[in-house]
Amino acid sequence: MRQKRMLFLTPAPYVFRVFVFLTCNMTRKERYAFVIDYFEINRPLAETELKFEDPYELLVATILSAQCTDKRVNSITPALFAKYATVKSMSAATFDDLFPIIKSISYPNNKTKHLIGMAIKVMEHFQGKIPMTVDELVQLPGVGRKTANVVTSVIDRQPNMAVDTHVFRVSRRIGLVPQAANTPLAVEKELIKNFPRELIHKAHHWLILHGRYTCLARNPKCEGCGLQKICPYFKKGDINKLLISSIQKSLHLKNLHPLKDWL
Ligand code: SF4
Repeated sequence: MRQKRMLFLTPAPYVFRVFVFLTCNMTRKERYAFVIDYFEINRPLAETELKFEDPYELLVATILSAQCTDKRVNSITPALFAKYATVKSMSAATFDDLFPIIKSISYPNNKTKHLIGMAIKVMEHFQGKIPMTVDELVQLPGVGRKTANVVTSVIDRQPNMAVDTHVFRVSRRIGLVPQAANTPLAVEKELIKNFPRELIHKAHHWLILHGRYTCLARNPKCEGCGLQKICPYFKKGDINKLLISSIQKSLHLKNLHPLKDWL
């Protein structure tokens, strides 16, 4: 009798249900196809939210946007570009003139030096023209791989993927990249490999905008998200709830709070 009761208590059927739930996985190809269809329908126009008129302005705005919001950058660039309309005028700027204009954004000290250094190098090494390859751009002060990818993909539609905090988080959450891809470069390589080449520049904005407005870092808005169906992060939350309620049912217990700690 005691043995029978133990069998009744075993959570095997529930573990099986969870196993089925977990293994109803799509292939990576199907996952990408779903994500592309979703964004094509729901975000057909995906563009940078930085305001700019030419490659010089986009480069400056992107340098300023490191660790800062696009909104904040857009609030100071009109005054900045009114005073320094070209890379040539920026190359002649002094620290004391430029700093007050950008002082309200993050790291104004370094960014002031970077902007002037960038402009001087463009004038001296690239004949005053913003270079348009990642290898050349990363030679400029203040320009890392992410900034170079943004500039070349936005201006020139090159199939380069800038991985910022939003792209990194969202692609991992929705399973576009394996969890082992745990650096921006690894995520970039996976996304480049799997998105069709002609969609890479657009996919970059899809993922950023989704991360900025829906899949927020702390409280993602899953209830209104059309990617729920394929999202392992969302399903993981559901599995936890399913396991707790299933085990509660099997043990005829209403409150099993300690379980939450080890699920
Ligand atoms: S379901 Fe939630 S976690 Fe998944 S992509 Fe949507 S908002 Fe992000």
